[in-house]
Amino acid sequence: MKIVSNCPLCEEHALHVIEKDSIGTQQCINCGYATTSNFIGTREDNETFKTLPEEMQSWSKEANGNIWIPSMITLPFGTLYPTNVEEVVGDGIRNVMKWGFAEMVDIPEEEQKNYPDERGGYFKQRYDTDNQKIYDIFLEAMVEMNEKARQNSIPESKIKLPKLKRVDG
Ligand SMILES: [Zn+2]
Repeated sequence: MKIVSNCPLCEEHALHVIEKDSIGTQQCINCGYATTSNFIGTREDNETFKTLPEEMQSWSKEANGNIWIPSMITLPFGTLYPTNVEEVVGDGIRNVMKWGFAEMVDIPEEEQKNYPDERGGYFKQRYDTDNQKIYDIFLEAMVEMNEKARQNSIPESKIKLPKLKRVDG
């Protein structure tokens, strides 16, 4: 069971609350921010938050007594993730968080030696982050991902509510 409610961050009626989820996932499919019961509290006192990579910490927001972080979605054909993009603002350049989408590509056989896996072999595929597509809005990236899922014959419903991934620093 899931409930759709208003998101405390973007205020859209797009916040999915998963009831039968032991970690209490809440995820907004409009702005892409998500939280779980591991992220109750503030940035100062939450221990899980302190284990996140610095970049992820910088993107986090506080609302409704929780810390919210941008979602990452990893699927066999592609990955959707938050990423900093340099933007000209006034007289200066600053980093702005956008959404990147990278497709899974085959690694040419002669290049596989550059991509060792952890089992003594080599990866044959990788996410093509060099050719990532950048989106301003999470929902736009999700639409693209759903389209790719259709092309790859993965039911759309399977990717509508991706799990909030722990990111290891
Ligand atoms: Zn939202």
